[in-house]
Amino acid sequence: MGLYQTSLRKKETMAKYYRANRDTILAKRTKVKTTNEQRIYYNRNADPQKIQARNYINNRVASGKIVREPCVDCGESRVEAHHHNGYEQEHWGDVTWLCRDHHSLIHRKYG
Ligand SMILES: [Zn+2]
Ligand SMILES: [Zn+2]
Repeated sequence: MGLYQTSLRKKETMAKYYRANRDTILAKRTKVKTTNEQRIYYNRNADPQKIQARNYINNRVASGKIVREPCVDCGESRVEAHHHNGYEQEHWGDVTWLCRDHHSLIHRKYG
């Protein structure tokens, strides 16, 4: 049997397989496509620099290099780090401590 015939037979087998499992194959394809779209959607919304900036502060706090301070607006002790200079790497350490309420307030006001 020549090489040509072998590959032809392979092709036939593939076609047969595809016909028999068409629904499964198509269902799989659709599933993968949806997953990719969801991942892109997720990445677009979660600003990676924002996450890194937040992780940076969490690590600094965990290692004791910086200490959480009470909310600058109301003195509430449960605070979140607000990156007032933005999320670029050079500003990762520039934070204002704000309680959840005042933090969301400032973002509603200034974005
Ligand atoms: Zn903030
Ligand atoms: Zn506050």
